[in-house]
Amino acid sequence: MDTLLRTPNKLEFFIPQFHGFERLTSNGPNPSRVKLCAKKRAIKVGSRSSTSSSALLDLVPETKKENLDFDLPLYDPSLNKVVDLAIVGGGPAGLAVAQQVSEAGLSVCSIDPSPKLIWPNNYGVWVDEFEAMDLLDCLDTTWSGAVVYINDGAEKDLSRPYGRVNRKQLKSKMLQKCITNGVMFHQSKVINVVHEDENSTVVCSDGVKIQASVVLDATGFSRCLVQYDKPYNPGYQVAYGIVAEVDGHPFDVDKMVFMDWRDKHLDAYPEVKERNSKIPTFLYAMPFSSNRIFLEETSLVARPGLKMEDIQERMVARLKHLGINVKRIEEDERCVIPMGGPLPVLPQRVVGIGGTAGMVHPSTGYMVARTLAAAPIVANAIVRYLGGGNNSSLRGDQLSAEVWRDLWPIERRRQREFFCFGMDILLKLDLDATRRFFDAFFDLEPHYWHGFLSSRLFLPDLVFFGCRSSRMLLIPRGWRS
Ligand SMILES: Cc1cc2nc3c(=O)[nH]c(=O)nc-3n(C[C@H](O)[C@H](O)[C@H](O)COP(=O)(O)OP(=O)(O)OC[C@H]3O[C@@H](n4cnc5c(N)ncnc54)[C@H](O)[C@@H]3O)c2cc1C
Repeated sequence: MDTLLRTPNKLEFFIPQFHGFERLTSNGPNPSRVKLCAKKRAIKVGSRSSTSSSALLDLVPETKKENLDFDLPLYDPSLNKVVDLAIVGGGPAGLAVAQQVSEAGLSVCSIDPSPKLIWPNNYGVWVDEFEAMDLLDCLDTTWSGAVVYINDGAEKDLSRPYGRVNRKQLKSKMLQKCITNGVMFHQSKVINVVHEDENSTVVCSDGVKIQASVVLDATGFSRCLVQYDKPYNPGYQVAYGIVAEVDGHPFDVDKMVFMDWRDKHLDAYPEVKERNSKIPTFLYAMPFSSNRIFLEETSLVARPGLKMEDIQERMVARLKHLGINVKRIEEDERCVIPMGGPLPVLPQRVVGIGGTAGMVHPSTGYMVARTLAAAPIVANAIVRYLGGGNNSSLRGDQLSAEVWRDLWPIERRRQREFFCFGMDILLKLDLDATRRFFDAFFDLEPHYWHGFLSSRLFLPDLVFFGCRSSRMLLIPRGWRS
């Protein structure tokens, strides 16, 4: 159990008052910001103490935080240089925009407390999404397809290749391009921004102030600078994942397990089974070899989010039932992803991308591919409106308004509303209804389910999709034509 407490808490974001999460008071721009507080408590499966559970959760992840070996050109505060673009946050979203705006010859400063740190999250993506962005070299493992277990004896083969992002390679590639293009880096946390008519000043926790024509908030779920004016009421995807060395596992190494909704492992624990029948969790797994695998027990979406201990309890029971004996944990991740909720104020002076700009898929929690695909839109808009050699040079609020318009055009906003509606439906589904939904969802033509999962489906396709989805829930399988 100490594993949970020894692993650094990666998440600092908004979460309602529930299940051992405490609200913190904050003087920052987002007063609703709260911090995740892990509680120390022995995990038991059902009412019985489980030796295998403690054995699993007592294993300490061996991977330590790793920094990339780069000499980053630093921003020199003594020069008081006004940069074209200050990017707050050096995650995939921030670096992708830094790379592309600097490529056009604009000056960029990237600000992050740990600019060389390899990103902590295990990202999974559909291979076609990365292929479309010429990023196949940034996948370290690919599977020719995926499998979904609806229930015992009912499984679906998805013939869509899936991949795990090589985050070291992706970040190295982006940093290298940034360095070549002259991006400057500043290692600090941003605490505020002050706007004047034309320029803005970003204030860092080390006292450094950086002036810029445009400020981009790419701080993920921290939502450091972007403002919201509606109550924040997202659903939460909660998951516990491990990259583990195991004695063996029952899965085909050529296929990843996209969802395993089976619940036989809970037969011996009626109380947990009852909980799971109301708010189900599934296993997501990426088998790398016969004895190395990524395993993640996931609550797709719930409001309030499930407790991490609840997720771990279900995972321990599942692994025991599958005969998976974990020998060593290489790394673990505790994932809490806010999904849906309102978009930020549109437009506003600070521009945003990624988690901070409402770009998480509200029905799936996926974001990395969508964000990387949106980076050129934001970068092109900044370059174009800031005066990329034509007469469209804009400043201040006008410029930001144009960037927001390009990032969230009406068809994208409608699409997001539809996905939020999808999330609201998912929030109401118990295990049986969830199974019926995904059973029919993956029977749809690939154009629809691929498009839905990868945010490529727009009206009127979404209307067709919506009609089919409601039939999935209302009409038993045998009656559907
Ligand atoms: C455990 C986990 C697993 C996930 N798995 C997937 C997945 O498989 N597929 C997928 O598509 N998505 C996944 N996601 C969603 C994921 O968050 C995004 O895909 C992606 O990380 C978002 O990129 P980002 O650049 O917007 O934000 P982040 O990656 O969160 O980066 C934000 C950066 O901003 C910095 N920062 C924060 N506050 C400040 C500040 N005040 N000043 C300066 N810098 C600051 C942080 O240090 C960080 O470097 C996962 C999320 C989690 C938490």
